[in-house]
Amino acid sequence: MIVTHGASAITPNLLILGGTTEATALCRALADTGLTGTVSFAGRVDRPVRQPLPQRVGGFGGVQGLADYLKAKKITHLIDATHPFASQMSRNAVEAALLTDTPLIALTRAPWAAQDGDNWRHVPDIAAAVAALDRPACNVLLAVGRMHLDDFAPNPQHHYLLRLVDPPKTPPPFPRHDVIVDRGPFREDSDRELMEAHEIDLVVSKNSGGTGAYAKIAAARALGLPVVMIDRPALPDRREAFDVAEVMDWLSHPGTERGV
Ligand code: NAP
Repeated sequence: MIVTHGASAITPNLLILGGTTEATALCRALADTGLTGTVSFAGRVDRPVRQPLPQRVGGFGGVQGLADYLKAKKITHLIDATHPFASQMSRNAVEAALLTDTPLIALTRAPWAAQDGDNWRHVPDIAAAVAALDRPACNVLLAVGRMHLDDFAPNPQHHYLLRLVDPPKTPPPFPRHDVIVDRGPFREDSDRELMEAHEIDLVVSKNSGGTGAYAKIAAARALGLPVVMIDRPALPDRREAFDVAEVMDWLSHPGTERGV
């Protein structure tokens, strides 16, 4: 693949901000095409999925840290393939790209939209989801990730079913809970069985979009269960792609030198 920057061809040196199945798929496509780059992880999970590109782990140290990294490593293109709720990293990427004049694209997913039969209560953020659980005790499938479990401590009356990528390092702050250690993608039929077996009354989910985490939403619809749906955080304007092919096209297209 020929990568252009302005009028002249350049040797690409990509930085991919990862942590998603989309990032992994992109890295595979980049490696297959012979493009060089590094994929970056925050370091939140114990066993990140193996990548076909070199990887680095850990924060950059805010906007300035990322800008310094982009310059020091002579990064030619920045690809933000983080999760739609990784809003701090995505904001930093936009600012650091502007500071260093590095072309940026985000590989992201459209949010899920409610369908006939869905019973969603939209909430704007985690705090509002916590407030929505201020209700009589029930069985809750809490699918918000390990980092936000402590936020839900104010509602200890519920029995929580937690599905986590790694076993929790500290006990979850709920007197009654079950933990399932598993990583997606998940299937609707098995999520439905899981929710029936645990007599789930209510699902709490981020509106992550994509297919890998949608199974629980489809299962909730099939079982007639309500979902507290946490809406996406707001992000600054940026160029966005919704599949790997769009990113590959952006990389090869002569008119992409600004990228943001
Ligand atoms: P966040 O709140 O937006 O990021 C907090 C800080 O973590 C960032 O400012 C950055 O530190 C560091 N960081 C985040 N992603 C990084 C990356 N890919 N490489 C290097 N440093 C990174 O992010 P988060 O919500 O904690 O998510 C962390 C990671 O988990 C992301 O990579 C995301 O793709 C993945 N993930 C998140 C979710 C979710 O629901 N949030 C779900 C699945 C996967 P510095 O400021 O020091 O650079």
